[in-house]
Amino acid sequence: AKEQGRNRFNYFTPSMQEYARYRMRLIQDLRLAVEKQQFSLNFQPIVHMASGEVHKAEALLRWHHSERGFVSPAEFIPVAEDTGLILEIGTWVFENAARQSRDWQRKYGKPIQLSVNKSPVQFRDEGENFERWVGLLKELDLTAGGICIEITEGLLLDASSGVSEKLLAYRDAGIQVSLDDFGTGYSSLAYLKKFDIDYLKIDQSFTRNLEHDSSDHTLCEAIIVMAHKLGMQVIAEGVETAGQRDLLLAMGCDYGQGYLYSKPLSAADFEGQYLAGTDV
Ligand code: C2E
Ligand code: CA
Ligand code: CA
Ligand code: CA
Repeated sequence: AKEQGRNRFNYFTPSMQEYARYRMRLIQDLRLAVEKQQFSLNFQPIVHMASGEVHKAEALLRWHHSERGFVSPAEFIPVAEDTGLILEIGTWVFENAARQSRDWQRKYGKPIQLSVNKSPVQFRDEGENFERWVGLLKELDLTAGGICIEITEGLLLDASSGVSEKLLAYRDAGIQVSLDDFGTGYSSLAYLKKFDIDYLKIDQSFTRNLEHDSSDHTLCEAIIVMAHKLGMQVIAEGVETAGQRDLLLAMGCDYGQGYLYSKPLSAADFEGQYLAGTDV
């Protein structure tokens, strides 16, 4: 398959030029988007499986461009990373999630934890932004655990960038840590005991065929047992069917996230569906 990919790559030089043009425009538009703040956050509930309660949500970035319409984060995050724009965007995401968490907490009298995604590039280059965020959390008087960051496995293998110290600093600031897309990156498990991680998110590639593939079933089960023994809680991603939910629940999975429960929602819709009516 790799061989085929390379041949295709060689044949289509004109489309590579097209791609380069497309990318240039995307970068220009992304710069403008940062200036004009064309972003919003959607919130997808992370459901406590045993009780069905929602005290957590993942904040997912959305870009609405006047002509392009909705641009998927899968498309623009890599470009934002290459150009460094991710740093400004990341700050916007963090600040908005922190404010939203505080506002909901005030309004409904219960803490709601919002998770923000952080790519390794952000983690490495965020520099003094971190102090700014910690200042903001204090200013907002946000409860510990109001914000969680989602990082990926690759980051933990990058010993050079002081990851360990940074994760401790996050913890000191009351920020929790999730390991995202677990099982898709490097297979070294040594880092799981080396770093203090609160949640392990089972990637949706394992949940997808859970009902029909016995090795995926075994893997999910093993991941959950291991995580619990290491003091972590487990969030299953991409839960789409009641069958998947029931199997995961029987395995002792703590949280579920996926279309079965809800798609990512606008702030107003999330509030209406999961928070309103629960205020004291
Ligand atoms: P992710 O962190 O793994 O986020 C989960 C993705 O799975 C989201 O896609 C979500 O909409 C989708 N999803 C949720 N439930 C289901 C389900 O039941 N089935 C299926 N098939 N998909 C489901 P989305 O919002 O398009 O985001 C894609 C990726 O973009 C994210 O993957 C994350 O890596 C990145 N991303 C999103 N927001 C941010 C951000 O603020 N910063 C950074 N650095 N990356 C972000
Ligand atoms: Ca994530
Ligand atoms: Ca994920
Ligand atoms: Ca722990």
